[in-house]
This record gives sequence, structure tokens and C-alpha cells, in this order.
Amino acid sequence: MLPDVSALQLLFAQYNALYFGGEIPAHRIAYNARFSNLAGRITYRPPLIELSSKHILRNPESLRDTLLHEMIHAWLFATRGDRGHSAAFKKKMRELGLSSIYHDMGAAREFSLDSKRYVLRCEHCSAEILRRRRPPSLVACARCSRGRYDQRYQLKVYEILGLREVTD
Ligand SMILES: [Zn+2]
Ligand SMILES: [Zn+2]
Repeated sequence: MLPDVSALQLLFAQYNALYFGGEIPAHRIAYNARFSNLAGRITYRPPLIELSSKHILRNPESLRDTLLHEMIHAWLFATRGDRGHSAAFKKKMRELGLSSIYHDMGAAREFSLDSKRYVLRCEHCSAEILRRRRPPSLVACARCSRGRYDQRYQLKVYEILGLREVTD
């Protein structure tokens, strides 16, 4: 069952107080039943966060992450005009225990539910690579390790449960 919109609004208020010091201005939260391959989207003017009702129904456990992801965008936009997946975005994601990000496109932030399932992440430079399959062997960050396998820059592999953003 989907939480109703007033419950979402309450969740927004709670997360705002708990994780963002109340710095996010009011946003309308709505479901969008037309999203078929998006899980969430933020619009900055007017401030609106839309969640895919299909996606939340299928993956109720993803509600927190989906909402928080869009709230980080809202927070960064409100406090510093930042719309991207910047270093500040990633820092906040890690603080909140969110796994990974993908996408970036002007005003709209969206998730794709395609079949890519793994993220390889370099803890050293924060580079992330999306893969459809788990890599068969240890992989090092190409940017950090200069062409040969270097254990210090081994990429960590995260499995993504069908929810992630993509660059369009
Ligand atoms: Zn995003
Ligand atoms: Zn690296």
C-alpha cells in the first residue's frame, strides 16, 4: 500500500528536521503514476518532488532513499544554488547512507529502472562506473592507478536494487 500524500509530507518534515537542520523550504510532494522508468524527480520552481507510485508500490523499501535523494537536491539548491551531483551532494549521500547516484539534466532529476545493476566506486576519487554485471575480478580505478592494477585503488562493488539515476 502506498503511504498517502500527507504521510509523505510528514516524512519530508521529519527528514528535513533530522538530516537537514530544517533548511529545506517547503516542497509539495506528489505521486506521479505516469512515471514508468523514473523513480523520482525534483522540480525547483515551483518546488515539487514527485515519486513514482509504480516504483514505490513495487519497492516500498526504496521510499526513504528516493525521497532523501530528491531532498538532497532540494537542500543544495536552496542553500547554494547547486543542482548537480557535486562533491557536496555525494558527501551528504554518504552521511545519510544512500548508495549511489546517476544522472544529471538541468531542472529534472530522474531515476532509471533499467537493467544495470552494479556500481563500481573508487573510494579515493569518488569515481563511479555503472555495470550490468558484477565484474569477474578485482578492478582498480583507471584514473587513480595509472594503467595497472593497484590494490590501493581497488573499486568497491555495490549492487543496486533496480533503482538508480542515469545521465540522460
Ligand atoms: Zn539526483
Ligand atoms: Zn579513483
